[in-house]
Amino acid sequence: MGGTFDPIHHGHLVAASEVRSMLGLDEVVFVPTGQPWQKDVGEVSPAEHRYLMTVIATASNPAFTVSRVDIDRKGPTYTIDTLRDLREQHPGAELYFITGADALEQILSWKDVDELWDLAHFVGVTRPGHHLTDAGLPTGEVTLAEVPAMAISSTDCRARVARGEPVWYLVPDGVVQYIGKYRLYRHENTPDTLYP
Ligand code: ATP
Ligand code: MG
Repeated sequence: MGGTFDPIHHGHLVAASEVRSMLGLDEVVFVPTGQPWQKDVGEVSPAEHRYLMTVIATASNPAFTVSRVDIDRKGPTYTIDTLRDLREQHPGAELYFITGADALEQILSWKDVDELWDLAHFVGVTRPGHHLTDAGLPTGEVTLAEVPAMAISSTDCRARVARGEPVWYLVPDGVVQYIGKYRLYRHENTPDTLYP
């Protein structure tokens, strides 16, 4: 499951857990992106923070791991490179790329899209506010999965922290504390009360 994970939240974790159970996957590898090419530079937290929050959030689940392939690779992240690197690290594994409905919409604009289908199965999960349909997707290439609706986004979590509002229960406890410790997502006028 690729993502910016800035920060990782319970929507990501529920989606991963549900897809693992539905498809009987051995493991879910979370892959924080390097330089996200769809997002503006400077808008995204340092990769090491995003990586560590992902490690903290997934540490208690023996079936969840985190990969550094995208953050250790120079340049913008392309899913084709992610899948090639994961293939090298897990020879013989059958790969499933888990992605939310919004990201799935962009799938056909990805680099070397036709080669993607050869490297992995694609799983599109429902996400509140996004219509999930296989219209326009190549038939048989993408599995659509209904997961419990979690109306959580990283954008909203960052905005809440910036306003001094709580993100408890939207992100795992350790991630709340990590955000507080490194004072992530704060603005000059963020009140100190909630994140001392
Ligand atoms: P941002 O608001 O910064 O874009 P995000 O919440 O969309 O963050 P990403 O890191 O961009 O999180 O998402 C990684 C993957 O997880 C994407 O494929 C996205 O569609 C999916 N995803 C994110 N939030 C949810 C959710 N609440 N339910 C299901 N899928 C989700
Ligand atoms: Mg997103």
